[in-house]
Amino acid sequence: MATKSLLARKNKLSEPKEQLRFLSNGIFADGKLPSFTEKLKVSQQFPLNPNSIEILQINVGYMCNQVCAHCHVDAGPDRKEIMTRETMLQCLDVIKNTKAHTLDLTGGAPEMNPNFRWFVEEASKIGVNDFIVRSNLTILRSNPKYYDLPEFFKKHNIHVVSSMPHYTQDMTDRQRGSGVFKLSIKALEELNAVGYGKEGSGLQLDLVYNPTGAFLPADQKALENDFKKALKRDFNIEFNNLFVITNLPISRFLEYLIASDNYEDYMYALVEAFNPAAVANVMCKNTISVSWDGYLYDCDFNQMLDLKVASKVQHISAYNEKVLQNRAIITSQHCYGCTAGAGSSCQGSLPNPSEGGAT
Ligand code: SF4
Ligand code: SF4
Repeated sequence: MATKSLLARKNKLSEPKEQLRFLSNGIFADGKLPSFTEKLKVSQQFPLNPNSIEILQINVGYMCNQVCAHCHVDAGPDRKEIMTRETMLQCLDVIKNTKAHTLDLTGGAPEMNPNFRWFVEEASKIGVNDFIVRSNLTILRSNPKYYDLPEFFKKHNIHVVSSMPHYTQDMTDRQRGSGVFKLSIKALEELNAVGYGKEGSGLQLDLVYNPTGAFLPADQKALENDFKKALKRDFNIEFNNLFVITNLPISRFLEYLIASDNYEDYMYALVEAFNPAAVANVMCKNTISVSWDGYLYDCDFNQMLDLKVASKVQHISAYNEKVLQNRAIITSQHCYGCTAGAGSSCQGSLPNPSEGGAT
């Protein structure tokens, strides 16, 4: 498993244009598989338009303490992109003055942004009480300066959404790095200790499962039952929901698919599993993604592909709800990952739409 980002390794796939070129050529260019646009047209859903923008998903930086094999952000300790207070204040202006009501903080590891706590506190002061933090769990135990984060999360009633690729050590460490499972379990114990995931506490702790290889996820409800049973039995850990997501063929997961010679098979599986009903619930319908430097995207995946919103408003400093709502969402073949089977988007399968991002 690589210990550096694609960018640090100077891998060509670190360039969004190279990823998009790959996703448009080969089996899609020679007509073996239909493009995502063609599929949308056949199901009369082209162009894809957003509904009301309810969630600002803010990527506060690409720095992370992990270097997971599947990461769509290409995050890692070597990434230095970090959102400044100035950009955070612009985000707060938007949430204060528009219909967006949820602040969804993602990264990298969002907690590593030195202004993370300040941002949450400032948002609380202006009345935001709908927070999501996408925590990779291990960050909570990686350094004593983060040990009190469960209490901080509780104080602001933050909805914690955490990646947990499996309830066994082997499967988890294979995807996310050696030692990740043990630290994640410790972090879950700490979250449970302050009430997270406990019935009646009102403190929401959801886990996110994504497959460890080039295959589509199994049924969400069945996996949730397996996770609940195993984590309770082995570690006395409780959580609320398990969201099952499909890995999108971009960034380091695309690197893995190509290197393991699984790319074509995976794309065939995604296209075959295309579910027109899933299109209505993809996260770009009610979310705007903001990058560390304030640019606007339809989702965190488009952010990583540098596909800025198709609008004359492209930066948080010029945010205009009405103008943005009238845009068409930019799609490409990676979107097949959001519409396969029951559908995902880092949001879990359709009957359980929650909220999505990295970790
Ligand atoms: S990747 Fe998913 S969320 Fe992003 S634009 Fe495509 S369908 Fe929408
Ligand atoms: S998947 Fe999440 S935890 Fe892993 S490297 Fe990416 S941002 Fe970090």
